[in-house]
Formats: sequence, structure tokens, C-alpha cells
Amino acid sequence: MNLSMILDMVADGLGDRVLVGDPVSGLTGAGLRDRARAGAAKLHAEGADRLVYLGPNGPAFPVALFAASLAGVPFLPVNYRLGAEQLADIMARQDAPLVVTDTPERVPGARTLGVAEFLALPASDHGSDAALTTDPESVAVLLMTSGTTAAPKSAVLRHQNLTAYLFGSVEFASVPDTDATLVSVPPYHIAAVANALSNLYSGRRIVYLDQFTPAGWLDTVGSQRVTHAMVVPTMLARIVAELRDRDVPGPECLKSLSYGGAKVAAEVVEEALTRFPGTGFVNAYGLTETASSIAVLGPDDHRTAIEAADPDVRARLGSVGRALPSVEIEVQGEDGTPCAPGVVGDIVVRGPQVAGEYLEAGSKVRGDGWFPTRDRGYLDAEGYLFVRGRADDTIIRGGENIAPAEIEDVLSGHPAVADAVVAGVPDLEWGQQIGAFVIVRPGRTVDAEELRAWVRERLRGSKTPRYVEFLAEFPVNPTGKVLRRDLVALVHPDASVSA
Ligand code: ATP
Repeated sequence: MNLSMILDMVADGLGDRVLVGDPVSGLTGAGLRDRARAGAAKLHAEGADRLVYLGPNGPAFPVALFAASLAGVPFLPVNYRLGAEQLADIMARQDAPLVVTDTPERVPGARTLGVAEFLALPASDHGSDAALTTDPESVAVLLMTSGTTAAPKSAVLRHQNLTAYLFGSVEFASVPDTDATLVSVPPYHIAAVANALSNLYSGRRIVYLDQFTPAGWLDTVGSQRVTHAMVVPTMLARIVAELRDRDVPGPECLKSLSYGGAKVAAEVVEEALTRFPGTGFVNAYGLTETASSIAVLGPDDHRTAIEAADPDVRARLGSVGRALPSVEIEVQGEDGTPCAPGVVGDIVVRGPQVAGEYLEAGSKVRGDGWFPTRDRGYLDAEGYLFVRGRADDTIIRGGENIAPAEIEDVLSGHPAVADAVVAGVPDLEWGQQIGAFVIVRPGRTVDAEELRAWVRERLRGSKTPRYVEFLAEFPVNPTGKVLRRDLVALVHPDASVSA
């Protein structure tokens, strides 16, 4: 299977259904294939070996994804917020790219095509036999990792990884034609690729929101009668705050709201559940390298957890759910054997959607088929997965390994603390010291000494934060990941500040 076959299924089976954009003037299944074929012909004529997408969150995104597939070249969506240097670095890694963008000045020297121009290319039947000839082992998509813990790398996703994700998640043409999904995740994120594929394949119309604001998101849900949406945690928190300010419930038409891509504060989820009484919530956990979601906490899990008296069941609101049927997830100790329920170890995953490969570094899938996510966490007795931070964030203080999540939990348990992030601060004597970055609940006060005493009483003295900083909000990247390096730089001027 390859993405061109998926496009054919959509165009043949849902040819008249509007699948992208406005219900009247949007792209139908057949229209999507026409535009993708025109794009493929252009790539072919230009002799391009990559389609770089430096454009908005809009209809051109799925067209470009499939155009690249029909032309047999990788699709590389790039973060339009990147600085000139980072963008130049990515472009220098490409041989003969064609860049779809409305900001050609940002990629000097590259062959470019405007977004509207790309969508209006003359019709062609180029690539019409690509469905049969594209090797499922060939590269479909390249995505730059976000670089929150390391220099960005190009994650490789092959056709078979993406189709495996698709078949493990949704059924063809399985939703009513009144369904619509609002996609506001950035186009250079795996969630955008996964959303495009799963919505088009199931027959659900995609509505794109390019510039996210909570008010714009709520207005679009209402005006476009949106039934499904996917957001990153910072968006969820801002939508919930907007509803709180307006003192209104979330739009009734929204049947399901998915969130994920980074840790979500449990209190945001709890409030979201009350503010959207008729909406089913989904927490999706996944990585770029796993072609998106590998574990999901579904609507029933959310409902059961919020209504539970049993604290273990209620705690599941803080879990990322259970492995999708098509993947296996294990938590392993240092010796590679599975940990008992409740014991924290390395989260590993295997299955056909797991790519685990980078252009610059090759495959990171182990010989036994497991791919290390570099996340730490545990499974409970019923298979619910709890993510407890990333291995790279582990603090090593005087030779002792300290998991930030443990201290973050204790700090978050303080009645005045709304949210806390803990990170290692470079230290000449100890290697690293503990830095705590804290957001205080509105109307409450607390000082650093009180928080230190709170941690000292509950954990060993070595886990007591040396630095305590109070902030109004955490610096996050566009997918909601906290930029720990930027936090550390607040207390340690030599720490590198990420862009
Ligand atoms: P880099 O490796 O450069 O830091 P990245 O790993 O941040 O890039 P992604 O692949 O988008 O780029 O991020 C995957 C990570 O995001 C996971 O390993 C996990 O730490 C976190 N994550 C994703 N979904 C969730 C979720 N639902 N809950 C908690 N954390 C999540």
C-alpha cells in the first residue's frame, strides 16, 4: 500500500463529497486528485526531488502531500516560524527541491511556487499509474524533529508506515458526510499529516485554521458546524480559559476533541470536561518517528475517570491511555526486560507504523524490533500508559539520577501551585542543580522557601530545588512542548537559549 492508492480510493469512492474547505466551494475527493496530479506534473517538469511545503495550514497542504506521493518524491513540510539560519540549514540538506511558499524571500536561491499558483496548476494525468508503481518502502514524508531536546533531524516516514497508521486507526468512508474536522495543528507536525490522511480516508471534511486564537477557533467550530477537532495542549488550555472568561459552555456541535503532542496538565483536562459537557475527549500520545498516535485515552476512559471514586481510576485522566491495537508498547528496565505495573522505565514501541529512522542518523529501531521512544513512564495493571517525562530531561545531580516528574508532582500538589516544571541547571560542583519553575494559582501566594520546605518534607533533601522561579506562563514551542532550555537560561545565563 502507498499514499497514491489511498488518494485513488478517496477520489474513486468519495469523488463528489467535499473533503477540504468550505462545504460549497471546497475540494471534492475527485478535485483533490486532480490538483494533486497537476502538482505532480509540475514536480516532474521541474525535475524536483522533494516537495518542500513552507505554506499555511490550508487546502494546499493535503494537495502537496499527495502531489509529492504521485511524483514519487518525499514531502517535507517545514516550520514557517524558523529563523533564517535554521531554514538555511534545512534547505542546504536538500538537493533539488521545489518549495511551495508565499514567502520566497525566506528561501533565497530555491525554486519556488506560490500557494495559489500551486493550487491553480493546469490539469494533468501525471502520476495516474503511481498507485501501482510506488514502492511502499519508499520515503513518503520527511519531518524535522522539533529540536526540543536535540538538534533537529529529518525523521523518515515510508509509505508503509503511514498506511499502517491509517489502517490501524480508521475505516474507509466510515463517517457521515455532515462530519467536519477543524485542524489547527501546525502543518509541519506529524499530527497534520496524520489528520489529513485519516480525515480524508474516513470521508470527513477538513476545515483548516491557519492562525490559532481561542476566539477564532470557537467561532470556526460554530460557524462551520465542526464535529471533530485536534489541538495541542496550549491550545486546549487557552480555549478552556476563553470559555471560562465568557462563562459559556463549548459549542454543542463538537462531538469529539483530541489533544496531545505534549504533556497536558490534569487540571486543564478536568476543566475541559466540564466546559464541553457533550464532547468526547481523546488524549493521543505519539511521536514523529511512530507516524503519530500509538496510544489513546478515549472518551469512555475520560468519562469513567472523571466520575470515579477510586483514586487509581481517577488518576487515569493523567495517562495517555492504552496502546492502539496495531502496536505493542512495553516499559522496560535497563536490562531490556519488561517492568512490573507501576514501575517506571523506558517506553518502547513496535509495530508496522513505527519508522524510527532519520536521514542523518539511520534507523534507531533495535535488533529485537523495539524502538526506544526516549520517554520514561509506567503501565498500570490494566495497560494504561503514564508518561513521566523524557529520558533526556533526567537531572544528574552529584551522580544521582533524578526524574523531574517526581518533583513536579510534589510541587503541583501544593495548594498554591497551578503548574510546575523542573529542570537541571548546570553547576560546577554538582554537575547539575535542581531548578523549579512555578506558575502560582490566581489569588494565591507562596514563596520559594515554603516550596523548598514542601518538597523537603515529601522527598529526599537532594531533590529540593536550589532555584525557584515564579512565572506567569512557560515558554513553549508551537506544539506545546515546554522549552526547558529557555527556563534554565532564566537562572543560568550561560545555558543556551533555544530559538
Ligand atoms: P525532538 O526529538 O527534537 O525533541 P520531538 O520529540 O519534540 O523532537 P515529537 O515527535 O513531536 O518531536 O514529540 C514526541 C514527544 O512528545 C513524545 O516522545 C512525548 O515526549 C511527547 N508527547 C506526545 N504526545 C504526548 C501526550 N499525549 N502526552 C504527553 N507527552 C506527549
